[in-house]
Amino acid sequence: MNITDDLLTNLGEIIGSNQNGENVYKIFTTCKELFDKEKAAFVIDPNRKLLLQGVFFKREDTGRLTVILGQKYIDTYRKDSSLHHTMLIHELKHLYDCYLLKDEFYKCTYNKRHWFEFQARFIELEFIQNYLVEKFTLSRLEDLMLKCFENNDFNYYSILFSQVSYNVFKQFQEMETDYLNNKVSVEDIVKEVIHGSHQLIFEYLTITDDYKRYAYFIIIKSFRNCLEDIILKRNDEPDILFSNLHEKYFFDLDYLYQKMYEIIDNYNEENKNYLLQLQYSLEENYTVLITQPFHNQA
Ligand SMILES: [Zn+2]
Repeated sequence: MNITDDLLTNLGEIIGSNQNGENVYKIFTTCKELFDKEKAAFVIDPNRKLLLQGVFFKREDTGRLTVILGQKYIDTYRKDSSLHHTMLIHELKHLYDCYLLKDEFYKCTYNKRHWFEFQARFIELEFIQNYLVEKFTLSRLEDLMLKCFENNDFNYYSILFSQVSYNVFKQFQEMETDYLNNKVSVEDIVKEVIHGSHQLIFEYLTITDDYKRYAYFIIIKSFRNCLEDIILKRNDEPDILFSNLHEKYFFDLDYLYQKMYEIIDNYNEENKNYLLQLQYSLEENYTVLITQPFHNQA
């Protein structure tokens, strides 16, 4: 037995035949089989020194499905550490999706790709609620996740741990659904997007609190990428694209798009350093620096 065998054995003991977390159960049993049949493998990366962000899923060029484990994950792994199991089930969800969807998993749009990430977070939640609560002493991160869901503030969690804003993605998805159901026109959507962009840029440039600046930076980045996604998608599907926009909207939109680009460019380094600092302090004691959850209007 080596450590990577232990990971699945220990996780298997926790899940057992308990199917209360229906999705978790399905993901675990499918992935376990993939590992047993050597269609998937663990790879240890000695250069990954952070625990958070230190574990990820990757499909190699050869087509082999791998879960990469950073050295810190391995060094700090303990059977009774709930966080390590939670992190693993998150990556197994990516493995599961990639196995089922094959190339689709990589070929989808930016927006859709991030829904995979959100779904992996929801799997973490299903796992914590059905398999860990009352059986493990949860880490502060897992406690925080439960609290965010209780308060209906998953956005806070996604900004902190996935570096994307869940609310922004939801907003764009709703706009698209409304459009496809003929509830809103392209013009309505553009007006909403222009209003949203103005507000975000204004907020970002006036806020001084470090965490809020970071959060708004992530929101702007998500917003701009979702916007880009719509524009790119609209080139393929002319009906739902901005192609039939009135010129004056196009001008506004383009201006705001560039402004957001500038913010992302100019403040990328500052926010990257802030996030790194935050992650180091999060890892030191699995606690969170920020006591007031951040709420945004986006
Ligand atoms: Zn992920």
